[in-house]
Amino acid sequence: MSSEAAFFIGHGSPMNALEHNAQVQQWQSVVQGHTPRAILMISAHWYTQGTAVTAMNFPRTIHDFYGFPQELHQVIYPAQGDPALATEIKELLSPHPVKLDMNWGLDHGAWSILMHMFPNADIPVVQLSLDQNLTPAQHLQLAKQLAPLRQQGVMIIGSGNLVHNLRMLDWQSTKPPLWAEKFNQHIKNLLLSKNFDAIAQYQHLGESALVAVPHPDHFLPLLYVLGTMQEADEISLFNDEILFGALSMLSVQLAAKV
Ligand code: ZN
Repeated sequence: MSSEAAFFIGHGSPMNALEHNAQVQQWQSVVQGHTPRAILMISAHWYTQGTAVTAMNFPRTIHDFYGFPQELHQVIYPAQGDPALATEIKELLSPHPVKLDMNWGLDHGAWSILMHMFPNADIPVVQLSLDQNLTPAQHLQLAKQLAPLRQQGVMIIGSGNLVHNLRMLDWQSTKPPLWAEKFNQHIKNLLLSKNFDAIAQYQHLGESALVAVPHPDHFLPLLYVLGTMQEADEISLFNDEILFGALSMLSVQLAAKV
């Protein structure tokens, strides 16, 4: 059996949950024909002290945003959890300590994309948090320890945005600013040359990196996908667009060549 695919998805606005634009259609199409036994989700929106993994049977849908329409607050994504997988993840990441969490659930970084990728919510989902005390290189190392899950039919999805600066958002933007283009292109080049260690050193990619990634939370989920790269994988990119001048939707697929 070939390994299940891994994806980094640029999630953009929470409103994408309810939309049918070109990006969300792409999220749907990349998972056509995939039936993973479970999904391991690493979302930008669960950024914690220490690493935690959701271990409940029924993760709640968390509406972790303000100022959006009531319709968005009413969304429920009823996927089950997978406590046995959570325990397995804790063991794989050892000796790094991992807390089995019974309080979190699925945040909007997870469900806003899963609603499109797996609308029937019939695949169990486990979320892994981002430990804010680790360096990007340490995150990449942890991700490598998760790689065997893909051989067991677990799909790994990182959800964030490679360029994410909410203070620089420009709703009228028709052409992305130079810093956004430059950083996005830099990461694309490193992805295509499979130079993942350099991606984990993104803070050293010059001035544009400081503006593109003012906070690591939306960037780090990419490393959890790259760390699971397998011998037979091909890397492909999609949704290569920068919206509102400061939000890169660039997404990445790792999947065995067909
Ligand atoms: Zn976000």
